[in-house]
Amino acid sequence: MTARILYGKDFAAQIKESARIEVDKLKNNFNVTPGLAVVIVGENPASQVYVRNKHKTCEELGIKSEVVALPETATKDDLLAKIDELNADKSIHGILVQLPLPDAIKSHSDAILNRIDPLKDVDGFHPMNVGKLVIGNPALVPCTPAGCIEMLDLAGIEIDGKRAVIIGRSNIVGKPMLHLLMARHATVTVCHSHTKNLPEVTREADILVAAMGKPKFVTADMIKTGAVVVDVGINRIAPKKLVGDVDFDAAVEVASAITPVPGGVGLLTVAMLMKNVVTAVKLQLGV
Ligand code: NDP
Repeated sequence: MTARILYGKDFAAQIKESARIEVDKLKNNFNVTPGLAVVIVGENPASQVYVRNKHKTCEELGIKSEVVALPETATKDDLLAKIDELNADKSIHGILVQLPLPDAIKSHSDAILNRIDPLKDVDGFHPMNVGKLVIGNPALVPCTPAGCIEMLDLAGIEIDGKRAVIIGRSNIVGKPMLHLLMARHATVTVCHSHTKNLPEVTREADILVAAMGKPKFVTADMIKTGAVVVDVGINRIAPKKLVGDVDFDAAVEVASAITPVPGGVGLLTVAMLMKNVVTAVKLQLGV
């Protein structure tokens, strides 16, 4: 078997196009231009690339984008004051703080993220939005796992009744993915670094999601023949070489569908952010 390759750019283009149509409707019907503020602290080169990419995508779709760049020396209070300002700004509907924060204020990350108005929390990290996701009343959902679900839907891959296994239990990927898959009636197992007999568990998966951050950790013998493999991992193994958590060349011979790295799930995250900005506007307008 050679798997169908699920290229992120095809799905990201569809997600962005539907966001663009929604942006036009908000402008025409409500006279509202959606606005996103991205707060970046310091000079982390990877973060700067991500922020530029978000800004460019906003411009493509007609979303107002404001990049708030604070110096490396910014304090927790500087950041909280900036968030308060953006919470009160009616032209800004979505706020995100680019992570990771510099070491000096990293320990305050939760306090800083929790200051964002939950209705403007387009990353879906605020405890209020996490709680809504857990009780099955989602509003703003973390972009990467939400993008994976959207991709499976667009690819016509059934989730209902499937056995899903997630490797990784982070708040950003693994845990929200559990709730999203469960809400779609999959039977879900979440694995982590204390899981015993991991290959035995992963071989049960009809849908296997790898989100651990370990290059090529998931080998072909860990995958059931015909499984759908979603590789969320992004691992830099050389200055210009990224690989996923899955050994792609071997897995492609066993799976029925698989996302590549690069070029897979990574491209969906920014597209879903745009969709979340549109959702945030609608929540704030009550439409
Ligand atoms: P974290 O480091 O926060 O979490 C990793 C998880 O993997 C933990 O739950 C950990 O278990 C688990 N894990 C680590 N080693 C093993 C092992 N040997 N066996 C089983 N489980 C293990 O990572 P993130 O969730 O933030 O990110 C995961 C990957 O996804 C990274 O490569 C990251 O770069 C990528 N990513 C990609 C995004 C995108 O495409 N846009 C967005 C976000 C992340 P434990 O809890 O026990 O420590």
